[in-house]
Amino acid sequence: MSDSEQPEQDCERLAPTTAPESSAEQTPAPASVPAQGAKKEPRSPRPDVSYTPVSNGMDYLVSVFQHLTEGATPPSARNLKYTVLHLQAATEVLLKARLVQEHFSLIFANPTEAKHASLEKGNFQSCGTLDAFDRLANIARVEFDKDDRKRIKELGDHRNALQHYGLTHNAYAIESRAVKVLDLLITFIHRHLIPGLAPAEAQGVEATMDSFRLQLKGVETLVKERMNNLRGDLDKAAAVTVKCPDCEQWALVADGRDAGPTCLFCHQTWGDDRRSAAANYAWIVLGLEDIPSFAHGDEVPVTDCPECGQCALVTLAVTADRKADTTPLCFACGETFNDLIDCEGGCGSVLNIAPDEDAIHLCSHCLSVRYDRF
Ligand SMILES: [Zn+2]
Ligand SMILES: [Zn+2]
Ligand SMILES: [Zn+2]
Repeated sequence: MSDSEQPEQDCERLAPTTAPESSAEQTPAPASVPAQGAKKEPRSPRPDVSYTPVSNGMDYLVSVFQHLTEGATPPSARNLKYTVLHLQAATEVLLKARLVQEHFSLIFANPTEAKHASLEKGNFQSCGTLDAFDRLANIARVEFDKDDRKRIKELGDHRNALQHYGLTHNAYAIESRAVKVLDLLITFIHRHLIPGLAPAEAQGVEATMDSFRLQLKGVETLVKERMNNLRGDLDKAAAVTVKCPDCEQWALVADGRDAGPTCLFCHQTWGDDRRSAAANYAWIVLGLEDIPSFAHGDEVPVTDCPECGQCALVTLAVTADRKADTTPLCFACGETFNDLIDCEGGCGSVLNIAPDEDAIHLCSHCLSVRYDRF
């Protein structure tokens, strides 16, 4: 296709259509330690909470595994709801328990206003889960994996969405994502929390951990088996398959099918909203908001496709058949490209022109701007 056949521009530059919520922090939990099954206890000091923070967090995890593993496969909507709610609560409590080991003031929303008396009474504004995570990383110098922050943020967003709008995610996606957070927490407890506990408490926690590891293996096996059952279909589509932003499995097939990009694992589908599929993928899976050059406008994660014209081309997509490399993939028509070059008009769109092809390196829009002007 030469530049004169460039389709109409579709993208609104630098503004992905359905970017996930901004990274605004969630409102911090009002109490330092959410008590399981607690009814609304507004502003009054914590009533007789008999759990220490760590055992409270472990108790939430026991509940998560119960809801994930006891009952139907995949778990019922109700079980999934409590999986998400209690997993978020466990994450918050356990991160803060480690933060207290560093210094109690760090779990206050504003550490400069921390008072030990307020901590004992439990009547203080505590920091949010992501704040706790950041303070652990930056102040306590706890080492986390690259994707841990993203996973914890997504879990919090998901919990909030669940409380406001009900269950919107499907069972397979929740299960698959819960496995990754559980894995993160079990590693965190073992490496960073247990070493700071009193010997008796450490022993009790370590004993529970063995049962968690066993149960996690069980859930992981279910996820793996499901992926294996899809192997035949996924192998055939490997060139246009990417990691799904919903379930994190390599199962999102963007082959231009009528149903739109579709995840074979969790059944998420974007129907006619292919631009959103591309934007979600770029933001959530590739994390492109973290690439500084994008903020300055040189790296546009989703742009107009030279083939179909829709703003659904992810130039840095990573496909299942070439995981070590990037492959420009259009989430609308399912085309991949080898010879993309940037439009020299500086508009941010790309052209599909082979190196030996004699063509003007301008898109139709920039071409017309130039002709109109002269
Ligand atoms: Zn999926
Ligand atoms: Zn396309
Ligand atoms: Zn242009």
